[in-house]
Amino acid sequence: MSEDIVEPKQVDIVYETDEPVTYEVIDRVAWIMLNRPGFNNSQNGQMTYALDDAFNRATQDDDVRCIVLGGNGKHFSAGHDIGTPGRDVHKEFDKRLMLAPHTNKPAAELLYTREQEQYLGMCKRWREIPKPTIAMVQGACVAGALMLAWTCDLIVASEDAFFQDPVNPLMGIPGVEYFAHAFELPPRVAKEFLLLGERMNAQRAYSFGMVNKVVPRDELREATAAWANKLAGQGRLGNWLTKQSINHVEELRGKTSAMTAAFHMHHFAHAQNDLVYGNSIAGVSGKDAAAANKKDAGEA
Ligand code: ZN
Repeated sequence: MSEDIVEPKQVDIVYETDEPVTYEVIDRVAWIMLNRPGFNNSQNGQMTYALDDAFNRATQDDDVRCIVLGGNGKHFSAGHDIGTPGRDVHKEFDKRLMLAPHTNKPAAELLYTREQEQYLGMCKRWREIPKPTIAMVQGACVAGALMLAWTCDLIVASEDAFFQDPVNPLMGIPGVEYFAHAFELPPRVAKEFLLLGERMNAQRAYSFGMVNKVVPRDELREATAAWANKLAGQGRLGNWLTKQSINHVEELRGKTSAMTAAFHMHHFAHAQNDLVYGNSIAGVSGKDAAAANKKDAGEA
């Protein structure tokens, strides 16, 4: 019976750090940094829950008036963890949303439950943080990393930043779980972005309004801090109401409905991959993804 509870799969997980996210408050700005630079800040469950803790800490602290999300190291983030020793899909964490455990669920229900919580649910939750948020992006901002940047109110990118969602060409999946693509980009550009899965550089992203400001790499932190400090000096409630107003406009344009529809197609594709390849991401590893990415970019 499909309703059966199953024995959770035992998978060895080796975390390289117990601090996958760092947190620091400077001048009423919380600096939340992804901190797995050795794995290009790949997002595992450990990082997701640490991020949720950090966002919640910044939200609860009345002295924090603005939040910056960045990544330590060369890249903002290479996306969801699909192959480091710390990949922890089969680990249970205390759910933050009203969802049941996922690790003891059979077949497609496992991933559907996990991604409702860890990807779609978390991103929607972070978008609603009642304080202004700024993503500070350098280097790669790929697939799952887009979702982190897109949940923020503003995006400041360095000239070397690039944005990419290659999951259709790589895995036959129509984009990452938080399907904001056609809200972040004009529809035809979003189609190009998803169908071809090629890199979009910061300047082109800026031309569509997906990025607010592009600066040289060595000015990224300074430029982000200037905006963060300005926002932190403004009225708390005004900042909250203003971001909510724009979020509401996106709702009137159907953002959540669009994301819900796409999420189910995303999971149909995961299930199809499982049936065809015995693996929900079509057996693609982090190495495969990096190699395909380099080839696309004309690198060795
Ligand atoms: Zn997924």
